[in-house]
Amino acid sequence: MAINGDSNVINRDAFRQAVVNTLERRLFYVPSFKIYGGVAGLYDYGPPGCAVKANVLAFWRQHFVLEENMLEVDCPCVTPEVVLKASGHVDKFTDLMVKDEKTGTCYRADHLLKDFCKDKLEKKDINITAEKAAELKHVLAVLDDLSAEELGEKIREYGIVAPDTKNPLSDPYPFNLMFQTSIGPSGLSPGFMRPETAQGIFVNFKDLYYYNGNKLPFAAAQIGQAFRNEISPRQGLLRVREFTLAEIEHFVDPEDKSHPKFSEVSNLEFLMFPREKQVSGEPAKRICLGEAVSKGIVNNETLGYFIGRVYLFLTYLGIDKDRLRFRQHLANEMAHYAADCWDAEIECSYGWIECVGIADRSAYDLRAHTDKSGVPLVAHEKFAEPREVEKLVIAPVKKELGLAFKGDQRMVCEALEVMSEEEAMEMKANLESKGEVEFHVCTLAKDVTINKNMVTISKEKKKEYQRVFTPSVIEPSFGIGRIIYCLYEHSFYTRPSKTGDEQLNVFRFPPLVAPIKCTVFPLVQNQQYEEVAKHISQILTAAGISYKIDMTGTSIGKRYARTDELGVPFAITVDSTSSVTIRERDSKVQIRVNVEEVASVVKEVTEGQSTWNDMLLKYNAPTVVDDE
Ligand code: ATP
Repeated sequence: MAINGDSNVINRDAFRQAVVNTLERRLFYVPSFKIYGGVAGLYDYGPPGCAVKANVLAFWRQHFVLEENMLEVDCPCVTPEVVLKASGHVDKFTDLMVKDEKTGTCYRADHLLKDFCKDKLEKKDINITAEKAAELKHVLAVLDDLSAEELGEKIREYGIVAPDTKNPLSDPYPFNLMFQTSIGPSGLSPGFMRPETAQGIFVNFKDLYYYNGNKLPFAAAQIGQAFRNEISPRQGLLRVREFTLAEIEHFVDPEDKSHPKFSEVSNLEFLMFPREKQVSGEPAKRICLGEAVSKGIVNNETLGYFIGRVYLFLTYLGIDKDRLRFRQHLANEMAHYAADCWDAEIECSYGWIECVGIADRSAYDLRAHTDKSGVPLVAHEKFAEPREVEKLVIAPVKKELGLAFKGDQRMVCEALEVMSEEEAMEMKANLESKGEVEFHVCTLAKDVTINKNMVTISKEKKKEYQRVFTPSVIEPSFGIGRIIYCLYEHSFYTRPSKTGDEQLNVFRFPPLVAPIKCTVFPLVQNQQYEEVAKHISQILTAAGISYKIDMTGTSIGKRYARTDELGVPFAITVDSTSSVTIRERDSKVQIRVNVEEVASVVKEVTEGQSTWNDMLLKYNAPTVVDDE
């Protein structure tokens, strides 16, 4: 391997350049609307990019939706304002922005501070004392935890200015990331392009719960486009303005967050970065998932189960397990309603990138939509035997209250009805002993005197047949573009050509992900070989294996190099009419098989029933390595 992604800064930039050049040249992705100069944060996927994405999504459906019998839905991107008002996005879906005070150019405040600290640390500025370096590292560790005021203070303290013009910057202020639109021609019905797919699932909770036989737990899933008007899109596919999200909302009883399949993942051990370690400046550590849950580092089994499943998903795709960690959110970083939150972060040439967020969102979303819509989004637990419970009954006597308080009667009445059990029982005791009590009515902002004719307070025995509650939600949310980009970096390497005067690019995608499973080449341009190649392609099509046929007269070495660059795992070369060679991309080793066997060999190896090593043994391979 000539260059790699994880040594020093120069190598890192050269490595990224090589990956991105290959990706754009081979149309994995390209800037959208390129002939008009492009638009920041918008990208098109070309043929191999679409194929990789389709493979990743197919595996996501298999690994999550099929495995857990999830209920998949597909909701619109255009969303009426009321939904996003209820969820809190209209008021709070913001990032902190600063403006160049002279030109008005906008920047994301935390990114400027992050770049400043990283730059100082990476360039090993000789003026930096050990103490200062420790401070900068601490700022980086707690960056997501800083308030607008704290960010503004740091920006001023470090003298950070607009990167392009060196002009002074404004104080940080919140900018809402949603794209606004209106639904219908009147312009009177405001809407937004959804910033996440989750809300579509929450608003359908009642029907999905019914569809699931009124049983918990269950999960719903959705794959779809999300839109965020990012302040400063950057880092290619990592921060874009329209992207594919794959989200799971797992609904569970808040009183029982155990998971029946937790034992299947509890022995996994991988890098975890708990909150305390981040704040104290310690590194992430390999922790056994079972231990993380039993020690309370991870809040509950269901959250732990999904962390384990996400680890398996990413590593099966080809993400390097040593450059994958699960980082816990810091206290302020986490939404106030969340019980616990972990991000799957993947290290690439841009640093550690959040690719999957796994959050226990408690009952927040369902409660918010219940309040706003008036439709109870709740679950029921039927008791095997009815349970006898004592219920507090507060009955204001409206006639008496009306006589005493006239226009204030309604306020007093409501205040009495919402008393807590403790308050009510205290009032009952006082009314019985003294005949009257002073009572504070918040909405009137004064005390009133209540006597024992004005209210009756009692406890009544009732039978309850069920418990009604709002489920908690555990949400793994996958940014598909970020995962794919990191996968590209983790799969890319270069190797010298046979003559040594050229570096050849290779993506070592596992067959699961590879955009095409094999290529078919007649060794030389002749009619006989071309017919065999066509025959093989028919068999491949019938077997459902994707392939590309290359009949050009280009040298075989060049053709191999072309498919290696697309990450195609196997190349079938027709050099006789009865048998062909199959070459494996990374080892370049070939085996010889009969024409009629080709499809089954490729199918077995790409679908994982056999390994390439099994095939080497079976076909008693001579060690043939091709010329490039
Ligand atoms: P960030 O802090 O990086 O802006 P976030 O915390 O806002 O991300 P979430 O709201 O948790 O992200 O979104 C879920 C997932 O969506 C993320 O884990 C990430 O993979 C993906 N994602 C979020 N914003 C973008 C974006 N602008 N471009 C591409 N993917 C994104």
